[in-house]
Parts: sequence; structure tokens; C-alpha cells
Amino acid sequence: MADAYDVVVIGAGTGGYSCALRLALLGKRVALVERDQRLGGTCLLRGCIPTKALLQSAAVMDTVNRSIEWGISASGQPDWSKIQTFQAKVVDKLVSGLTGLVKARKIDVVNGTASLKSGPSVEVDGRTLQATDVVLATGSTPRLLPGLQRSDRVITSDEALTYGTIPGSVVIIGAGAIGLEFASFYRSMGAEVTLVEALPRIAPLEDEDASKEIARAFRKRGISTYAGASVEDVTERDGGVDVTFTTGDSKKETTKADVCLVAVGRGPITEGLGLEEAGVEVDRGFVKVDDQLQTTASHVWAIGDVAATPLQLAHVSFTEGYAVAERIGGESIPAIEYTGIPRVTYCSPEIASVGLTEAQAVDRGHEVEVERLNLQGIGKANIVGEGGMVKIVAEKAGGPVLGVHMVGPHVTDLISEGMLIVNWEAVPAEVAALIHPHPTLSEGVGEAFLALAGKPLHGT
Ligand code: NAD
Repeated sequence: MADAYDVVVIGAGTGGYSCALRLALLGKRVALVERDQRLGGTCLLRGCIPTKALLQSAAVMDTVNRSIEWGISASGQPDWSKIQTFQAKVVDKLVSGLTGLVKARKIDVVNGTASLKSGPSVEVDGRTLQATDVVLATGSTPRLLPGLQRSDRVITSDEALTYGTIPGSVVIIGAGAIGLEFASFYRSMGAEVTLVEALPRIAPLEDEDASKEIARAFRKRGISTYAGASVEDVTERDGGVDVTFTTGDSKKETTKADVCLVAVGRGPITEGLGLEEAGVEVDRGFVKVDDQLQTTASHVWAIGDVAATPLQLAHVSFTEGYAVAERIGGESIPAIEYTGIPRVTYCSPEIASVGLTEAQAVDRGHEVEVERLNLQGIGKANIVGEGGMVKIVAEKAGGPVLGVHMVGPHVTDLISEGMLIVNWEAVPAEVAALIHPHPTLSEGVGEAFLALAGKPLHGT
């Protein structure tokens, strides 16, 4: 006898569990299939949460190392096993909270590996789950470069979390979010760090000014960065690894390190799902969806990293999960506007942005006006001892704000104001009229808008 559900959700990461939780609130009978022993997926178990916990330890180390600047004589050393314990404690608490919530909403958790069958239905280790709708939320996994294999010396972000030591030296391939965050972490822990990026600048998806600012800051921190560089060879040797690459100015370099961390993107997890047989088409490996997140098979949806949608971010998968749950529940939910979703990278200094970069705005035919504010002019930035920038891209002649880009302390929190400004299509004069509290870092945003409205305070 098959078990009958309204919806079977495959994958209990941020996308899958938020979809299941919302469906349950809408009165649906839901099964949540997960092959891992624990709920939470990449974000909770191997991604956002544990890595941000590591970066909190890194921030403490940075503060200790600079403590005399604030008149405190402190010194300390990282203790990797205790850092791992801290990280695991945060993860365990959140997993246990999530598990309790899923239970409280009466969602059936089915442990095992699912494959999609016609109907639709789902088979989990020989058991058939009938459903009116199926949601694919199987997520993604770190990609390696062709010919490379994971080993003691060649690792991805997954292995970095459980690695035996903090390496003394690291070469990181790829300067997207993962590469930047691990470069920052390892440098704070005292490692020699080399960052190699194929595209012409590090943080290549960010506004060009943000890339320049982070490159400057990393240089100051003693992180060697090479952009426009192509990796030729990664060879393990006794006690280490040699990474050979051609630099942007065509010189061949070999960097010797204890470890090479590969952070060149994440690929979709679809193996064994039976997509083809079920009529679910893929697009470069990711599940093809329309703007409602429906796949090419009737009553089969896809959300999160496995879906061929623009951004692989936990908050995107959560948004997609909610949208699909509500559509299954019969509500009319508009297509997600991906440019309005904030992007945040937790390296030191942090990077955050929302909306269009200057180049994207120009490409789309906007006549733009741009304001760049140096955070050094803001009192609170001097108190916390960090600089950075706020850049606003707006339609010329007082038109709406198209993008907000920031590098500096706590900008991953400050960007939420930019999110409201961009999504509500505010114009600079409206934002300039609003009063920011003093002394705060948020004055960086306020003063950038004052300047854009033609009345700068501390800037020129
Ligand atoms: P990414 O796609 O953001 O960055 C990978 C980088 O590697 C790119 O800049 C690419 O040009 C570079 N690259 C590819 N091949 C290369 C090569 N042979 N040599 C040198 N460089 C090469 O991917 P990621 O950093 O691995 O992250 C994966 C996904 O997870 C991304 O979508 C990312 O946004 C997301 N993520 C987000 C956060 C966050 O929001 N803070 C944190 C971690 C991961």
C-alpha cells in the first residue's frame, strides 16, 4: 500500500524545510524526504551557519590581535578543536530547533534516498509515497576542477569544516563568496593565504568598485590575490601541494602550500533522482523551471540550489520554498524578482549589495548617477576601526535607486535598508530626508543619499 500525501518534498535544506513548514500551515499533509541523518541541508550542516560561526571566531581573533588599538592588552591563539566545538554547538542547537518545529507541524520525515516516479509519486528505498505535488529541493554540492579529486591536501568547503588542523598555508582557487570567506578566515587564523581567480577581478559578480575595495583590503591584510589567473596544475607532494597558475600578466607562478581549497562553484544534486524518466528537463544539469518554479513535468516543482534560477543562496531557496508552497495551496504568487534580493559575503571586510551594479544598469540602458561614500568619514567606523565604502547607483535626475553596494564593517546587516530602498523604488531625495541615528554605521547609507541629493554632510 502506498502512503498518500498532498505533497512530498525531497530534501530538507532551507528550501525544502521552509516549503514543508509553509505547506503544513496551509493544511497540507506533507512528507519530507531526507537522506542525511539530520535536517537542515547545506545551509545548516555544511554552509551558512557553520562557516559564519567560524568567521565569528575569526572576528574575535582579529579583535584580540588589534586590541591595543582600543587600549586593551590582550593576546590569544586560535584553538581549532574549540572553534569546531563552538561551531558544532550552534549547528546542533538550530538542527534540534528545526527538528522540533517539523514535528510540531506534523510533517512526516522519511529518512532515505528518493527517486521520482510517474504520477507523480516518490519512491524511497522501496517504499512508495503517492502525492498530488512533488517538490524537488535536493540542493548542490561543491564542484572540483576537472581531473582533481578530494584528498588530504585538496579540499572543498565541506572538508574544511572537519579538517584536522588550521593549515599554515592555503591556496584557494576561486574568489566568489566561498573563496573570499575562507581566505578571510584562514588569514585571521594566521595562515599564509593565496587566492587565485580566473575572472579579471576578485568578487567578480559584485560592482567593480566593491571588487577594488575588497582587493585593497585583502592586500592590506597580507592575502596574496591573483585575478585573471588560470590554474594549470595542482600537484600533491610530500607534506603539501603545489598550485601552478598563469597570472593576469601571463607569468607562470607556483605556490607551495599545506592545502589547496577549491571554491569554483557548486553543482546541482540530481543523480539517481530519475528526472529524465519522469519528464523533468534539465538546463546545464540544473532543473529547468518556469517563472512559477514548475518543472516540465506536471505537478513537479523545483526550488533552491538544484533549480535553474539565478542565485544559489539560502534566502533565495527559502523564498522559492514559500512561493511554491503557497502556489500549491492555490494562492496567486507573483514571480520572484531576483535583482531585488540582497547578496552578502562575510569576509573581513564584509561585502553586501542589492539591485544592479553600475555596469549592469548602464547595460540595461539606464542613464545613471553614482555616489561613492568613504566610510572613513563616518564617526562610528572610526570607533570600530574599519573603513569601507557605500556606493549608490540611481537613475539620473532624481530617479529611483537602482543598486546599493557596500564594503565594510557589518554591511551584511546594513544592506537590509538598501533592500527596502531598491525594492520600493525610492528616489535619493526621499531617503535623504530620513534621519539616521548617530553615531552608527548606518549613517554611511544616510550620508551617501544626502550627497546624492546634492547636500553632502561630511563628504565633498
Ligand atoms: P561562485 O560561483 O560564487 O565563485 C566561484 C569562483 O570561482 C568564480 O568567481 C569563478 O570565476 C572562479 N573559478 C571558476 N573556475 C576557476 C578556475 N579554474 N580558476 C580560478 N577561478 C575559478 O561559487 P562559490 O564561491 O564556490 O560559492 C558557491 C555558491 O554558494 C555561490 O552561488 C555562492 O553565492 C553561494 N554562497 C554564498 C555565500 C554567502 O552568501 N555568503 C557563502 C558561500 C556560498
